[in-house]
Amino acid sequence: KHALLIIFRDITRRKHIEEQHAALYREAEESIRARDEFLSIASHELKTPLTSLSLKLQGLARSLRKAPDLADKIAPSLDVALRQTRRLNTLVDELLDVSRITQGRLELRIEELDLSAVVEDLLERMQETATRAGCEVRLDLEASVVGRWDRSRLEQVLMNLLSNAIKYGAGKPIDVCVRGDGAQARFWVRDRGIGIPAEDQERIFQRFERAVSVRHFGGFGLGLWIARRIVEAFGGTIVVVSAPGEGSTFTVTLPRG
Ligand code: ADP
Repeated sequence: KHALLIIFRDITRRKHIEEQHAALYREAEESIRARDEFLSIASHELKTPLTSLSLKLQGLARSLRKAPDLADKIAPSLDVALRQTRRLNTLVDELLDVSRITQGRLELRIEELDLSAVVEDLLERMQETATRAGCEVRLDLEASVVGRWDRSRLEQVLMNLLSNAIKYGAGKPIDVCVRGDGAQARFWVRDRGIGIPAEDQERIFQRFERAVSVRHFGGFGLGLWIARRIVEAFGGTIVVVSAPGEGSTFTVTLPRG
């Protein structure tokens, strides 16, 4: 009789704890959902005024080029305004992507592509940014690495890795390589910059997470999370090998689809 009672008490207690856990879990789920919903609404609301602001500033910059006497006075502030608008635009685009991904609304437009051609093309467009940062970008592309992917999402991943390599690359040369490997395609971006401490190497792929040492660089810590989600949507992987002070190599492996 005594033993039965103890078992009975034990079960009620366990049940109580389970219920508490379930309630906590529901609360956490609800708060994540509410946060994602807020993110989605806020980023959509920000996008419209921001686009109009960018266009107005670009228009101003164009008119200013026709009025050299005014240009000297106004150009520097306009440059700052344009730069900050671009920065905001990047953030809002990243937030929009985060909300698309968390709501399972990341749409892929799959077509047959040559990865090497996509990389070469994008590099040409990013050359100016690299040069301005004093970075040499070296290409090593295997000819014709064909597969089925979404071009703009692929470019987005590469652009994120490359702009990080430029940002954290300490002005040293950067290597971008593409290889075909049977049913898979691979590309990697290697820099020789500040590197990433071992304990941060997984964390940086999470949302809003950044290595402690980079607080003074601009950025929001969303790029790599988005990049990993895109690569996963292709059925691929993205990994980093890095050592502080020696640089980082980010490698993306993709099934050819
Ligand atoms: P952001 O660069 O906007 O902070 P990311 O998600 O692209 O966001 O990167 C997250 C963090 O990963 C960065 O803040 C930085 O700490 C680290 N990181 C990414 N790429 C590199 C790199 N090539 N070298 C060193 N650290 C890097």
